[in-house]
Amino acid sequence: MAETYITDDTEALNARETQISIEAVKKYARDAVRFDHVTVEPDIRRQLNLLKLSLVMVTPSEPKEAEELATIAARMDATYGKGKWCEDASKPDSCLDINKITEIMANSRDEKRLRQVWEGWHTISLPMKKDYARFVELSNKGAKELGFLDTGAMWRSKYDMPADDFTRELDRLWAQVRPLYVKLHAYARIKLHEKYGDVVPPTGPIPAHLLGNIWAQDWSNIEPLVSPANADPGYSLTEILKRRNVSPVDMVKIGERFYTSVGFTVLPETFWQRSMLVKPQDREVVCHASAWDIDQVDDLRIKMCIHQTAEDFTTIHHELGHNFYQRAYDKLPVIFRDSANDGFHEAIGDTIALSVTPEYLVRIKLLDRAPDPSRDLGLLMNKALEKIAFLPFGLLVDQWRWKVFSGEVTPENYNRVWWELRQKYQGIAPVATRGDEFFDPGAKYHVPGNTPYSRYFLADILQFQFHRALSKIAGCTAPLNRCSIYESQEAGKRLNAMLSMGQSRPWQDALEALTGSRQMDATAILDYFAPLDKWLDDQLKGKPVGW
Ligand SMILES: [Zn+2]
Repeated sequence: MAETYITDDTEALNARETQISIEAVKKYARDAVRFDHVTVEPDIRRQLNLLKLSLVMVTPSEPKEAEELATIAARMDATYGKGKWCEDASKPDSCLDINKITEIMANSRDEKRLRQVWEGWHTISLPMKKDYARFVELSNKGAKELGFLDTGAMWRSKYDMPADDFTRELDRLWAQVRPLYVKLHAYARIKLHEKYGDVVPPTGPIPAHLLGNIWAQDWSNIEPLVSPANADPGYSLTEILKRRNVSPVDMVKIGERFYTSVGFTVLPETFWQRSMLVKPQDREVVCHASAWDIDQVDDLRIKMCIHQTAEDFTTIHHELGHNFYQRAYDKLPVIFRDSANDGFHEAIGDTIALSVTPEYLVRIKLLDRAPDPSRDLGLLMNKALEKIAFLPFGLLVDQWRWKVFSGEVTPENYNRVWWELRQKYQGIAPVATRGDEFFDPGAKYHVPGNTPYSRYFLADILQFQFHRALSKIAGCTAPLNRCSIYESQEAGKRLNAMLSMGQSRPWQDALEALTGSRQMDATAILDYFAPLDKWLDDQLKGKPVGW
């Protein structure tokens, strides 16, 4: 209700229920600690452990400190949510919220304006810095009471392996894809240098404000500047959807049809009655797409404001992936009704979206003829600017936070280390020095919002690994970027084998059920982007690569 009928009443009700639910989980998590040294069945032990890990933030047992932490967390969240940068403080019209900032970063090609807006947005986090330092202290105290070294170690304990091994695991995955990222970076730098001149040095890191996104985490918006010549795939899904006037409901039906074609049961009637698919005219809603499992049984819904675009078409597949996953594990004990690890849930729908190939569009009669694979560079570049460009950012947010929670990075060094990591992983730097008077990590929602971030990195890796495994099961012999598992019952069976395990077994078991391997593997990304990788090699001959 708080999302589809935004009023003061629903906001208050939501805050109250959220608080009650957090208190309840906290109580259960603490109660679970009492059984730490009791011998119980492995299945029960796993549930007790998961209970202890179910909170992202643990408030200390001392009531004053608990209240202080809750207040700080709410204040940081609100500071971000209300964050606005005003060009002229006396003119409210000149104030930009994150939506407007995002739009300017995406569409403006005026270097001065981009820099001004970028620097403007990074002022909203200044008031959070002191709060964040105190937040770290208090949330660590709570985590310690549950037996963890600090909050970061608690987060890393969710991955069915020792916390340090998990850190090494992420480094290993990054090392697999880094060479491709570095090439994409080098090519983007050349093109940005052509466009913006000396602001973009021919070697060294790329200025943080020129990649089409306030955090430089998704470069799709600079596609017109970097897309290969003659790489137009010859069709536009957005245009097809508009020309045929495919309604939002029909777009979702097409998505559902993909899942049923591989053997999943149709969505319940209530899904169609209770989902929000278009923006209502009569009230305020949160349009940001999301999937819901209201009763943890079969009241599945999605909430979106669907437009006839290729992007929304993909998002529908993403959200439905959450719903089909939720239903696959709905018979398990409640604590096991979750993703194998938090990367899996985000990866499922994206895996299916990778099957939305030109051949698939031909099979469902949206397209007459699939373009020749020689025209794939455009499609691949488009995906790379989103999925490859994201990887280092997906990794570094928690690299920073883990160091902060462990005390390795102290408040005086918050900003310096943030930018060291951004340069190290992303090859990106601010135009002017960002001293420790700033708190730039706070300008990314997940930091003040205290949402762990590694899951997005994992999801980005896993979806290609899933896609490669499923394509093989489906018998696809085409290049990986042309494989679709549409109508493959075999692939569907294996996918369901993994989904139906929920969180009942370590994620390695779930991964094995689908891929046959117990290790996450980023080489599927390299397979998928092989034609682009080769093309980049040609473009970069004799040119500087790296920073
Ligand atoms: Zn999602």
